[in-house]
Amino acid sequence: MADKKELDELKQKLFSKKENGWDSDVNKNEVFNYANGYINFMNKSKTEREIIKQSKIIAESKGFKDIKECDTLKPGDRVYYINREKSMYLAVIGNESIENGVNIIGAHADSPRLDLKPNPLYEDGELAYLKTHYYGGIKKYQWTTIPLSIHGVIVKSNGEKIEVNIGEDENDPIFTITDLLPHLAQDQMEKKLKNGIDGEDLNLLVGSIPYDKDIPEAVKLNILDILNKKYGMTEIDFVSSELELVPAMKCRSMGFDESMIAGYGQDDKICVYSELTALVDMQETPKTTSICIISDKEEIGSMGNTGMESNVFEYFMSEILNRLGINRPNLLDKVFCNSKMLSADVDAGFDPIYANVSDRNNAGYIGRGIAINKYTGARGKSGASDANAEYVATVRNIFESNDVKYQVTELGKVDIGGGGTIAYILANKGIDVIDCGVPVLSMHAPYEVTSKFDLYEAYKGYMAFYKS
Ligand code: MN
Ligand code: MN
Repeated sequence: MADKKELDELKQKLFSKKENGWDSDVNKNEVFNYANGYINFMNKSKTEREIIKQSKIIAESKGFKDIKECDTLKPGDRVYYINREKSMYLAVIGNESIENGVNIIGAHADSPRLDLKPNPLYEDGELAYLKTHYYGGIKKYQWTTIPLSIHGVIVKSNGEKIEVNIGEDENDPIFTITDLLPHLAQDQMEKKLKNGIDGEDLNLLVGSIPYDKDIPEAVKLNILDILNKKYGMTEIDFVSSELELVPAMKCRSMGFDESMIAGYGQDDKICVYSELTALVDMQETPKTTSICIISDKEEIGSMGNTGMESNVFEYFMSEILNRLGINRPNLLDKVFCNSKMLSADVDAGFDPIYANVSDRNNAGYIGRGIAINKYTGARGKSGASDANAEYVATVRNIFESNDVKYQVTELGKVDIGGGGTIAYILANKGIDVIDCGVPVLSMHAPYEVTSKFDLYEAYKGYMAFYKS
């Protein structure tokens, strides 16, 4: 019988390590400083358009140029392409031939929210409301009785575009959706949680003063008068607007130990920020051309011309090949088949309060580092892009040789549910892809929670990947 010390050593040698990352080796200052940059970024950018705007500022400050301004490209050049203000692709041209493939990291800028309907404004009971249609997978009851702000654009038929951002500044008013008082909610409380609030009842309360007491719809008229004076718009201009309601709460440091971050839309802005800063912070020209994708519409299936299913990404890649002076038929297919990618999307963090939905051996834990998901999908991996073992080994090796703390996880128990990302779209082009992102608590809720440690490991991991 071996003694205890030997047994411990054998265990140490043979067991895979699942450790909390907050050990003595962590440079807490570095981790917290990086998180402050992220929190700052989050407070300037809650919607996909705002993310792209901020990302452009960050990229340009680090020497990136619009690819349209570059006639030719050479190693070390830094370029970007913005697609309709909602998605963006960036590249750092590497030293080796692009024919050997590129290293791609892709995240998405859109998050679950409430969009205004095309004809949103109405008056009822002497109160004015805006009707909404929710975007992405939400638990509807979470969106009532919280402060909401309105972000987006109104485009008039002459093309004039008006930007809207109201509810974020301390001096702005906020908006909210009301809910029934418990005293009169007997029937509502008997309903299933998912039916407690109807989608059609997610109506935003926006005003209560009548323009003139003696006319019908006087409160609605007063609101339109205010909007006309503020934005120069009339009611019909709502039809060509994109106005999004998002939580008016600030992204903040969280916990007595300040180890976590609470904020709206961390799915998937936490990966956008870490993949983007990893790219722009690279000091030297990488061996392999590095590509960063910030996509749109992931939360509703990646369709449309700003979603990952569109061909705009191929167009960007072809424009790179053109400007390198090497393009020829089928070259892009070859590049893709030689490429590797991290689909940078968040993972479900293990929540001890709801432990029964997770397999503890395969759950992502807050504070254990970046989470790799070999596959997603639901009900028997349906719809999953299941990464090849060889490729998982490649990614492990990149992380292990750069001291990046990682965990390999899946979304939840086998029969409980599932999800998807943009991984399969790129994998279908022949690229080796694996999901790899930050674990989140309360995913898709108005306030999501992440760990500063995991955020920093994502930054480190993404940079190591670009450099590989
Ligand atoms: Mn996501
Ligand atoms: Mn999501």
